[in-house]
Amino acid sequence: TPSFTGKRIHKLDETVVNKIAAGEIIVRPANAVKEMLENSLDAGATEISITVKNGGLGMIQIQDNGCGIKKEDLGIVCERFTTSKIDHFEDLTSLTTFGFRGEALASISYIARVKIIARTADSVCAFQMEYGLGRPLGPEKPCAGNMGTIIMVDDFFYNNPTRRMILNAPSEEYIRIQEVVTKYAMRFAHVGFSLKKHGEHVADIRTPSKSTTLDNCKIFFGNSVARELLSIEGLNEKYQCQVQGYVTNANFSLKKYTFLLFINGRAVDCSKLKKCVELLYAVHLPKHSFPFVYLSLELPPGLIDVNVHPTKAEVRFRFEEEIIAFIYETIEQRILTSQESRTFMVQT
Ligand code: ADP
Ligand code: MG
Repeated sequence: TPSFTGKRIHKLDETVVNKIAAGEIIVRPANAVKEMLENSLDAGATEISITVKNGGLGMIQIQDNGCGIKKEDLGIVCERFTTSKIDHFEDLTSLTTFGFRGEALASISYIARVKIIARTADSVCAFQMEYGLGRPLGPEKPCAGNMGTIIMVDDFFYNNPTRRMILNAPSEEYIRIQEVVTKYAMRFAHVGFSLKKHGEHVADIRTPSKSTTLDNCKIFFGNSVARELLSIEGLNEKYQCQVQGYVTNANFSLKKYTFLLFINGRAVDCSKLKKCVELLYAVHLPKHSFPFVYLSLELPPGLIDVNVHPTKAEVRFRFEEEIIAFIYETIEQRILTSQESRTFMVQT
């Protein structure tokens, strides 16, 4: 029987509220990596290096060469709802950045120990500051440092043993981090990414800056996949939807379905679209074999709501059915034309 009956209603303490919210946004180390990668990209970085200890549970360090953070802003950067990216709710309809809520760094600082070292172009040195529960633990200190930002996150969920307990083994958490970095390195191929385990010399992921999605596809998925790819391009004027991507042809298949989706640059899930493309290939491929699919959609920011999910993993967009149908047709057409040209080649 419920035991709260008759108890008075009272407002929760701010720290409790923020800790609860943080646990929804940052479920596991890979979420923190995603948020911080997006911040680096928002900051215009062209090089992003990540070092991880113990699958992210011990430490995550991310260094970028973006715009840095001003000394004067270091004091509030980890507070909840502080951002440099939007001013008004309406700004969400013309959003061009990943971030907008000002919750990521705050959340991370509520579940781990955070240290930031940052240097802006107009500063002669870097400044560092440490944080706990959204607040600086002391004044900022001048230090040496390149332009850009380094964020160190230590002791994930040190203050939430239950959450720490239900996480997977560090090796599995590391795989999830690898997946996040792979996705962003595919989509933002002009940016150089590296990911390595703390104490190891060889990086598990390393992509050069100024490369292309196709180059990086070779790095991550191998030449055997890359040479079977058909490039996809389509524009739907009615819904102002643009799709670009790479998919394997109908004469090639994999044991595992790889489906990488980006909407307006965000790595997102859309189970309906994923299923739809799988069904499309089921017509062409043998049983239990799958395609490789990389799709990048651009939709008018006003048609997509990224604010439906705390980790922004699933997004909603208007005209979902129509847009999915358009993508389906675009891929199907591409597969068919490639088969025609194949037949043609064989005949001549
Ligand atoms: P949001 O991205 O929604 O604004 P965050 O909590 O992720 O919220 O970040 C808060 C603010 O900190 C950002 O608006 C940005 O000004 C600054 N910031 C965070 N990470 C970086 C970075 N790597 N480089 C430059 N500025 C950053
Ligand atoms: Mg952010």
